[in-house]
Amino acid sequence: MATIAEALAGASPLASVSDSWRLDAELLLAGVLGERREYLHTWPERELAQQQARAFQDLLRRRQEGEPVAYLIGRKAFWDFELSVNANVLIPRPETELLVERALELGDKRRDEQGGGLSVADLGTGSGAIAIAVARSRPDWQLVAVDLSEGALDLARANADALAVPNIQFRLGSWCEVLADASCDLIIANPPYVGSGDPHLVEGSLPFEPQMALVAAEAGLADLQAITRQGTRCLKCGGWLLMEHGFNQSQAVRELLTEMSYRHVESRRDLAGVERMVAAQWMEAHDA
Ligand code: GLN
Repeated sequence: MATIAEALAGASPLASVSDSWRLDAELLLAGVLGERREYLHTWPERELAQQQARAFQDLLRRRQEGEPVAYLIGRKAFWDFELSVNANVLIPRPETELLVERALELGDKRRDEQGGGLSVADLGTGSGAIAIAVARSRPDWQLVAVDLSEGALDLARANADALAVPNIQFRLGSWCEVLADASCDLIIANPPYVGSGDPHLVEGSLPFEPQMALVAAEAGLADLQAITRQGTRCLKCGGWLLMEHGFNQSQAVRELLTEMSYRHVESRRDLAGVERMVAAQWMEAHDA
């Protein structure tokens, strides 16, 4: 039987589909063994049981066909925790941590001005990544996590339970539909923003991910636009809307926000230097 070291060395053909093939192989093998990656380096000479070797080969074959590691092992690291993921939800991306970071900063500023906890909505929560990151970081804030997919909402709820995060309510629905008027200090969203027919949809992990989490009409802008419009009803005066968007959409999204009378519209770059998210403040008082 192969040792751990031999099994990992045997994964080198993955190099043809993945730049990170060694890491991929380690994550897959650790998943099969039910151990952390460090275990593989501590016990390279340990022999795999036949069933483990077979399970690993099966995962390597699926990876070779393009299936993302996160779906194969059902786990993905985000912020300072790990989430369960499945094909009902988008795999959380490192770029999206930028949205969390800015939400915490803007929320803290607002809390300093207003006092008390904040009401925060995460629209299209998927695995729950954003809502859970914010809720864990600020236990006195109240989160509402919304998704149109029951499968996604079930998973988000299970993730929050597994991490013992108590300050999130889960609601099935479309964007702001389930939120009361003038109820939110922050609205955060990573909506679908890839245009249908975009060539990226057949690349990398995207073919395996749910279309409803990726693709939006009007060159990917339709949902960003809907949230911008609906946010005006649900944000408190002085509340912030934060949205992730596509690599070439920052100007269009800033224009949408300005047209809808949002103020203090600001774009932020991701680690690749691409403008990837926008924040804007709703400054109008709502009529009683
Ligand atoms: N960031 C993802 C990608 O382009 C898309 C995520 C989304 O549509 N919200 O790979």
